[in-house]
Amino acid sequence: MTEHTKTDGLPRMLDRVPPRNERMAGDKVECNACPVLCQISPGRVGACDRYANAGGELVRLDPVLMLRRGAGSDESIDFGPRGEALPAPAEEAVFVTGVGSSTTYPDYKPAPFIVASQVDGVDMVTVVTEGIFSYCSVKLKIDTDRWLGPEQAPVRCRGEVVGHVTTAEYGSQMLSIGGVHHITGGSKKEGRVAVETLLALCNQQPADLQIEGGAAVTVQSARAPIVDGVEEQRMRVGCGSATIGIFAQQFRDVADEVVVVDDHITGVLTEHQAGRCLGMRPSGLKVRGRKSTPGRYFQVANPGTGWGGTDISDPLSIIEGFDPDVAWPGMRVLMTSTTGEHCAWFVLDRALQPQPAPMPPEVVQVVGRIGQNCEPSLTSVLFVGGAGGSLRAGVTENPVLLTRAIKNALVNVTCGGAPAYVWPGGGITVMVDVARMPAHSFGSVPTPAIVAPIEFTLRLDDYRALGGHMDCVRSVADALAHGAWHHDGAPIARRWVQHDAAQPWPIGQPPLLG
Ligand code: SF4
Repeated sequence: MTEHTKTDGLPRMLDRVPPRNERMAGDKVECNACPVLCQISPGRVGACDRYANAGGELVRLDPVLMLRRGAGSDESIDFGPRGEALPAPAEEAVFVTGVGSSTTYPDYKPAPFIVASQVDGVDMVTVVTEGIFSYCSVKLKIDTDRWLGPEQAPVRCRGEVVGHVTTAEYGSQMLSIGGVHHITGGSKKEGRVAVETLLALCNQQPADLQIEGGAAVTVQSARAPIVDGVEEQRMRVGCGSATIGIFAQQFRDVADEVVVVDDHITGVLTEHQAGRCLGMRPSGLKVRGRKSTPGRYFQVANPGTGWGGTDISDPLSIIEGFDPDVAWPGMRVLMTSTTGEHCAWFVLDRALQPQPAPMPPEVVQVVGRIGQNCEPSLTSVLFVGGAGGSLRAGVTENPVLLTRAIKNALVNVTCGGAPAYVWPGGGITVMVDVARMPAHSFGSVPTPAIVAPIEFTLRLDDYRALGGHMDCVRSVADALAHGAWHHDGAPIARRWVQHDAAQPWPIGQPPLLG
């Protein structure tokens, strides 16, 4: 393969052409865009389906994705031959993303696109590349009350362990999928399936996961999770105690006692501070479980997929009884879950036994209010990748200066144009919501590893100061006309995607730092 023979002012890189494998057939090309080093026959593609041998030239098959703001529509356009006039939006309306841009591997090369721009008269530059991530995972935030499995339980996909259950958050169960231990530390098959699972989730595709000792879930970015075959509808309005507090006044007007069943914190209205502040008469209702504070109970049942994330289907099973010195016949008791999806109405008989009764319309209305206040249940897929390694060399010859510049809030990091949060501490650990990225932004290579787009935007002066590859900085127009700086003129594709106006334009934004 010959490469980097441009004569338009960009540096000649012939001294950096990789040594040719002498035992390779003459018509093959070797791809060194990842450590697999595929030797690709004419007309064939490499092991990742991302590069091909086109008439003896190594070509990147996927189009480079360009974000465009303003009027227009998504379309694909081939790069023309050098100098060919192609219609393009104004430079300030174009952002070159890392999607399809190709990589810097084996990391001695400047990033494929280093693009100049101006914001409010300030010269900016965006360094654009695809990173190859062996250190990466996704965190799944699954909006559901239902218990998916014990914390630390292995999560399997097609029989392979690809992650684990991690700490639940407010109204959501959390899974961690992938990570270097599954990608590199297990069997070859475990690594392969882990990366395939990551790739599907990152590309906003569904994945079927089985949690050991727990549920089977189907998860997909920005879609409702399916738990044991049932599609979730509502994310809880709050915990049992919070639901009591939020609706206390409305409950008081229609019931004598309300129990909001929750696997974590079950609330009992008249004993709860909210009921006491409203002057409610104590009911004498006693629930099972461990009392935390007045009207707030832990562990009223086992976790499960029933009422409020417990294993119960009969709400009375958590009632120990009623204090005969306090309760009274005719007392009206509402029991509900934290989403209002489960609810029941009881009236105490003369023996102070709760008897099911038709729910009055005014009570139905309050339970409906709980449901109205629930948000749609979704799965959020957050990609986490370690960008503090070798890809930094594609940005600067002195990589630690990039790390410091990011920590000093001089650099806005984006992935496919979407804002990326940079974790505090050492390295460049980025986290991005894949739903904010263009569809199919991710790829993989069989090392195995994930390929993800990443862009670093900063002032041109700061880029110069951190030892950036200034001789590779190009205008947007040049990048549009010719493709990557090392591209040798063979046609490659670019793809326009209309920028979502609800998202921040990636240039000129403050960084999201921890
Ligand atoms: S697997 Fe690696 S070496 Fe093979 S074509 Fe893909 S990027 Fe190139």
